[in-house]
Amino acid sequence: MRDALDQLLLPAECLLCRTLLSSRDSHRLVCDVCRHRWRPVRPPWCGRCGQPEPLFGRCRLCAAWPAALVLARSAVWLDAAARDAVHALKYGGLPRIAADLASAMASLDLPGREAAWLVPVPLGPERLRERGYNQSERLARALSRRWNRPLVELLTRTRDTVTQTALTPEARLANVAGAFAMRNAKCGMGNESQPGNSAFRIPHAALERPLVLVDDVFTTGATLAEAARALERAGARTVLAVTFGRALVPDFT
Ligand SMILES: [Zn+2]
Ligand SMILES: [Zn+2]
Repeated sequence: MRDALDQLLLPAECLLCRTLLSSRDSHRLVCDVCRHRWRPVRPPWCGRCGQPEPLFGRCRLCAAWPAALVLARSAVWLDAAARDAVHALKYGGLPRIAADLASAMASLDLPGREAAWLVPVPLGPERLRERGYNQSERLARALSRRWNRPLVELLTRTRDTVTQTALTPEARLANVAGAFAMRNAKCGMGNESQPGNSAFRIPHAALERPLVLVDDVFTTGATLAEAARALERAGARTVLAVTFGRALVPDFT
């Protein structure tokens, strides 16, 4: 309903640069030019976390990840152009932009994707109330339509964590430690208007499949690692992670 209203009320212009969208693109919120300004993350990278490899030695970013988290990939670098899109998704109250972001994520190459289930990283209760939606769930839902894979809300956030933006990697780890738990999820394909309505219990089989965590941004990977840890504790063997944006390599050294 809200989405339909947005569509009626908003002129068909790119949300990011305000140029008019061609009629071919009128279902989108982001024009071609803006989408082409997003810089794809490309190899060479650490095979596991997808971060550019360090000049010397092994990748330290993913060294302490839970064993089940085998791979994390991001679609684009979080420079100014991509950050505007993430801000629109999170703070602009425009969850429909998730479809544009998911289209950049759809070509990410994930082993086992054809059998995978998508698991959005949950939002804390307070933030969910403020925002009215979980941006990661919107991304996961859009991606689940693209990949034709089910979305399963397996996780819940047990407490609100402080915004990670200004935290060092160590502080981020402490901030999210124990923040996730399994929930008695309802499952549904992303193309249903009411996700979760086709309630079926979390089948144990879910834990045998590759589970793909979906989040908006990868900064140090602390949130994804903690979410993966909760899935691993519940028996998941293989967890992958995808995000739209990846923070430019943080300089915490
Ligand atoms: Zn634009
Ligand atoms: Zn790594």
